[in-house]
Order: sequence, then C-alpha cells, then structure tokens
Amino acid sequence: MSQLIESLQSQLGEKGVLTGDLLAEKFIPHGCPAALLRPQTTEEVSQALKLCHEASQSVIPYGGLTGLVEATASDQSEIAISLERMNQIEEIDIESRTMTVQAGVPLQVVQEAADKADMLFPLDIGARGSATIGGNVSTNAGGNRVIRYGMMRDQILGMEVVLADGRVITSMNKIIKNNTGYDLKQLFVGAEGTLGIVTRIVLRLRPKPKSQQMAFVGVNTFSEVTRVLNLLDGALGGSLSAFEVLWKDYYQLVTTAPAEGKPPLAHDYGYYILVEALGGDEQSDEERFLNVLAEAMEEGTIADAVVAQSQGERNAMWAIRDDVGQVAQNWPIFAFDISVPLNQMESYVAELTAELDERWQDNTCMVFGHLGDGNLHIIVGMGEKSAEAKKAVEQVVYSGLPERGGSVSAEHGIGVQKKAYLSWSRSTDEIALMQMMKTALDPKGILNPGKIFSS
Ligand SMILES: Cc1cc2nc3c(=O)[nH]c(=O)nc-3n(C[C@H](O)[C@H](O)[C@H](O)COP(=O)(O)OP(=O)(O)OC[C@H]3O[C@@H](n4cnc5c(N)ncnc54)[C@H](O)[C@@H]3O)c2cc1C
Repeated sequence: MSQLIESLQSQLGEKGVLTGDLLAEKFIPHGCPAALLRPQTTEEVSQALKLCHEASQSVIPYGGLTGLVEATASDQSEIAISLERMNQIEEIDIESRTMTVQAGVPLQVVQEAADKADMLFPLDIGARGSATIGGNVSTNAGGNRVIRYGMMRDQILGMEVVLADGRVITSMNKIIKNNTGYDLKQLFVGAEGTLGIVTRIVLRLRPKPKSQQMAFVGVNTFSEVTRVLNLLDGALGGSLSAFEVLWKDYYQLVTTAPAEGKPPLAHDYGYYILVEALGGDEQSDEERFLNVLAEAMEEGTIADAVVAQSQGERNAMWAIRDDVGQVAQNWPIFAFDISVPLNQMESYVAELTAELDERWQDNTCMVFGHLGDGNLHIIVGMGEKSAEAKKAVEQVVYSGLPERGGSVSAEHGIGVQKKAYLSWSRSTDEIALMQMMKTALDPKGILNPGKIFSS
C-alpha cells in the first residue's frame, strides 16, 4: 500500500493525496480509508485508477458524502477518490439547453447557475448544498419534483466516465434523441460507484417556470388522495410538479409546538396533500389551479384547502413537509425510503402499522412522501436503536413489499445498508445480470467493492 501511495503522490502531487493528519481533519462518515485521492482532471482520475488497477487496490468514489445507505463506507485497506477538486461548470449552452459540469460541482451551484441563466435545473433534494452532481448521478437521486421532471437519469444527456482500468469513455452528447446502440451513460446512473467514476456530465436544462402555485389540501380517505392526484394531473396539463402526502400523525407532529410550523389546515383530516404546479403564465395558471381545486371541493373529494398567497407562504408549506427532524427529537428512530404501487399503498400502510402495533405497543410510525411517484418515507421508533431492533423493524417494513411489487429503495440506493434486502425487490436473474455487468466492466472488482451486492 505505501508504495502505491507514493506512486499516486508522484502522479497527483502533494495536494492530490491526503493521508495521516491531513486525512484525519476531513469529515468522513462510515470508516476511514488509508488515503484520499483528490484529482483535478479526468486525466488524473485515469492515471490514479490505472495504478490502483495494476495493484488490485480497492477504490471508493466520494461525492459530497450525503448518501443515506453507507455507499461510501471504507476501511484502512481501501483508498478513496473524491471529485471535490473537479468542481467547475464548463459551459452553459442556452440554445441547446444544456449545462456541462465536472462531477464534483454541488447540486445547489448548478441550480443557481441555471437560474442566473434564466433556465431551470429541476432536480432538488434537501442535501443540495453538499451533494454533488456525480453523487446525484451515481445514486439516481429523486427528490421533490420527480412527478414533473423525472429522476436524475432524466436530466442527463451526456457523460464522461473513467473505467476501473483507467480507460476514459467520453460520451458528452448534447442531443435528446440518439439511438446509436446501447445508451452507455445510463449504465452508470444509480450504479453507486461500482462500475466507473463519473467525471463530467452534460445536464439537460428546462425553461424557467414563470408561475408557482401551491396549496395544502385536506382529505379524509386514501381513495380521495388518489382521486385528487388524477384530477389535478389531468386538469393542470402537465404542470403538476409536486404531490406530497403527509399522513395525519406526521402532519400533527410537524404543525404542533415545539415544531415551528403553523397548521395551514385543522388537524381533523386523514391525509394532507402539498400540491405544487409550475407554469408559464401567472394569471391563467392561477385561474386554472383555483378552478380545479374548487371543482374537487364541489364534488366533495377535497374536505378543505388553503392556497399559498406569497413566496413566504410557499416556503412555509415546504418547511412543514420537510421538518423530518421533529420525528427524531424525542426517541431513537429508523428511517425508510420505499416504493409501492399506488393501488397497494393503503393496504400496505394499514398492514405495516397493525404489525408494528402488535410487535411494539408503544411504537411511533410516521408516514409521508412523494406519493405522486409511489415513494413513501416511513419513520419508525420503538424505543431502542440496537442492531437487533433495526433488523426486526426492517423485516416488518420490507415484508409487505415483494408481494405488492414494491421496492426496498425508492431513491436512496442500496449501498451497504440495504444489501441484505436487494433480493426482496429484484429477481435472482436480475441480480445475476448486474453481477455480469460488474464483472465485464470491473473484472478485478476494485470499484466500491461490497456495495449493492457482495462480489
Ligand atoms: C438532508 C438530506 C436529504 C436528502 N434528500 C434526498 C432526496 O430527496 N432524494 C434523494 O434521492 N436523495 C436524498 N438524499 C440522499 C443523498 O443526498 C443523495 O443520494 C445524493 O445524490 C448523494 O450525493 P453525494 O454527492 O453526497 O454522494 P455520496 O454520498 O458521496 O456518494 C453516493 C454514492 O455515489 C458514489 N459516487 C459519488 N460520486 C461519484 C462519482 N463521481 N462517480 C462514481 N460514483 C460516485 C459513491 O461511491 C456512493 O456510492 C438526502 C440526503 C440528506 C442528507
């Protein structure tokens, strides 16, 4: 290892390889590698991987380290490679509606640069300040506006990747339609750094919306939730950009002191829906939004609704939805990110809460999520945080998913944390094909070994 680190130092320079005290100063969750490589160019990534490949040395790619499934876990037998010094926006091409970036650029920097150019980069997640575009690609990040714009894979037109042996694959395509054989870039989306290191990306930009409508809606039954979704999605002509649902207990928690959120609606309803539409014309968009809400109220689907009147009120509504921290205030919790088809969601949650009540009488279970995408976040507290307790809760949360065609990971990935449950959502043949792809691209298994599945 020390000989390899010396060779890496001579390739990347002193600042390009951190070890010892300099490495100890860095915040690195989930274990510490023997060295941290900080290349500045694709060429340096390639040289570093060539050396590591020759030495059969494991390499763990780092983005902003905000991932939630321990996909950057490492130990002293491993070397990490961070894209933090590859953080430049190379080009904004207004005519082609693209932005070309290096993989280490934080998401928020991309969003702000797009905004300044009067365009929109629509991916948005809570960790926007630290999470990098390379990390977003490698986890296929989702977030709040997937219902309108899709996940990270839908925001990518081109990509440059360095393979495990140092070969550079450059597909910096700017066009939407390009059916010239396999869509290679998509292989690396959601691959969690196991197939290659993403170095540069061509992002797709969208027109900047000129209007934003938002409302909190209260309904009594789950079938009314799905009815409101269909009504709004149909009537808003493609402008529905968020459909977030808060189950009653979660809404009450995040709108009752000590939470700062003031309840926009009374605490009487079964489900609370945060609805957002992004459009191109303030006046007609507002009219259409209000009309469809009024229609839903008239037919009795919506019990009550409040429409945000200012940016401050819109921000306050999002803050209520996002105040997940309240759940962890008083008790240890386990957090889950799952998907389940909408027609199975009500029975899944009912079965889950019944099972939790049977096993742990004093449990707390909060449910909310990007319901328009079939994605729920479930937070369970049952009084302890031991490994045994975690496993027991996981089994209860995941056990209702396979029979319903659900997923043990909607948007956070598998990493190490969900490895044991991959086969609950993917077939043996699917996993075998993933392993074949891994072997084809990384025959020595040096890239992020032990993540997603065991080598
Ligand atoms: C407060 C908070 C809110 C969040 N909200 C959401 C949300 O709404 N939706 C969502 O999907 N996620 C969410 N996340 C999870 C996380 O932010 C995302 O997974 C994000 O995409 C990770 O980016 P990162 O740069 O931090 O990657 P890291 O955590 O550093 O890495 C994640 C994975 O990508 C790999 N990787 C990183 N960079 C590269 C690269 N250049 N090439 C190859 N592999 C690479 C790593 O090896 C690892 O496997 C949230 C996290 C936090 C802390």
